[in-house]
Amino acid sequence: MSDAFAIVDELGPEKVLYLHDPGTQLRAIVVIDNVAAGPAIGGTRMAPDVSLAECARLARAMTLKNAAAGLAHGGAKAVIFADPRMPTADKERLMRAYAYAIREVTDYIPGPDMGTNETAMAWVHDMIHRSVGLPRELGGIPLDEIGATGYGLAAAVEAAQRHGDFQLAGARIAVQGFGAVGMHAARYLAQRGAVLVAASDSAGTLYRTDGLDIEALIAWKRSGRPVAEFADGEARERDAIIDVACDVWVPAARPDVIHEGNQDRLQARVVAEGANIPVTEAAEHRLAQRGVLVLPDFIVNAGGVICAAVEYRGGSENDALSRIDEKVRHNLDEVLSRAKADDVIPRTAAVAMAHERVRTAMRFRRRG
Ligand code: NAD
Repeated sequence: MSDAFAIVDELGPEKVLYLHDPGTQLRAIVVIDNVAAGPAIGGTRMAPDVSLAECARLARAMTLKNAAAGLAHGGAKAVIFADPRMPTADKERLMRAYAYAIREVTDYIPGPDMGTNETAMAWVHDMIHRSVGLPRELGGIPLDEIGATGYGLAAAVEAAQRHGDFQLAGARIAVQGFGAVGMHAARYLAQRGAVLVAASDSAGTLYRTDGLDIEALIAWKRSGRPVAEFADGEARERDAIIDVACDVWVPAARPDVIHEGNQDRLQARVVAEGANIPVTEAAEHRLAQRGVLVLPDFIVNAGGVICAAVEYRGGSENDALSRIDEKVRHNLDEVLSRAKADDVIPRTAAVAMAHERVRTAMRFRRRG
C-alpha cells in the first residue's frame, strides 16, 4: 500500500480524484479530506515533483487548520504535475483545463499555493465561479499584501502573554524568513511594542541589537535585495538567526528548520510558528522541557485561510482582519489552557481540539 494511504482514518479522505486530460497534458490530483464543516478550502499547488502522498498530507493539514480556526469549511488540497515557470499562455491553458476538470467537484474551493497565484485563481474563477485568493478587482482580499497571516500571528503572541513568562512591550524578536508572513509579523508585533533585532532570508541574517528599522527593511526587501545587504545592521550568515538571543523567535520560511540537531541553540522564550511544521515534533518536546512556549503553526498561521473564508462570503478587508484577530486569539487561548490542564505540549492540545471539532461537525451530517 502506498504511503498516500497512511492517513486513511475516521476523518478521511472522503474523495481522491486523479485528473488527466491528454489534450492539454493536464495531470493533477485532488484530495478532499473532510467536508463535514462545509465545502473544503485548500490550495492548488503546481510543481513537477508533487505526489499523492504530499497532497493527502496537506489536505489533512487543511482539515485540521480549518476546523481549529472554527471555519465552516473542510480541508482539501490539489496538486498539478507541471513546471510553474512555463510561459503564461501555457499556464493559463493548463489552469483552465484544471478548472474545467473540477467543475462538478463543488465541495472543493481552490486557493493559491506554491506555483499558483491570484491570476491563476482568476482563471479558475472565470471557468467555474469557485475559487479564493482572487485579485482585488474580482472581490479578492490580497492576503499577502495586507499581511493576514502575520496579523494573526501577532495577535496570537499578544494572547500568549498570559500563558508565558514574557511581555510583548519591549520584547526582542527575531524573524527567520523575511517574506510575506515574516515581514508582516514583524510589523504587527512592532506595533504592539516589540523590537525586531534580527531578520533573515535565504541569503543571510541581519542583526541590530537596538532594533532594525522595519519599514525601511520591508521596502529594501520588496525591491528584491537580500536583508543582509541592508546597511543599517550587521550581516551574519543565514542560520545565525537561530542563535540570536530574543524573547520571540518567529520561523517564517521552511519546514523542519529546528530539529534535534540544533534545538539547543535557540535562546528564546516563545517560538511563534509562522511557517508550516518549522519545528520537528521531537524538537517541540525538547523545547517544552526547556520551558520554551511553542505556539503551533496551524493555530497561529491560520490568518491566511480565515481571510480566504471571509473573501468567499464577500466580506471586506476589515471584516477579515477582525475575524482573524478574534479567531486566532480565542483558539490560541483555548489550546494553551488545554495544554496546561492536560500537561501536554501545545501541539498535542491543538490536534486534539481540531479532531474534536471535526468529529462534532461529522455528527451533524446526514449519512447516506
Ligand atoms: P515567501 O516566499 O513570501 O517568504 C519566504 C521567505 O523565507 C523568503 O524571504 C525566503 O528568502 C526566506 N527563506 C527561504 N529559505 C530560508 C532559509 N533556509 N532561511 C531563512 N530564510 C529563508 O513565503 P511566505 O508566504 O511568507 O510563507 C512562508 C512560510 O509560511 C511557508 O512555509 C508557507 O507555507 C507558510 N505559510 C504562509 C502563509 C501565507 O499566508 N503566506 C500562511 C500559512 C503558512
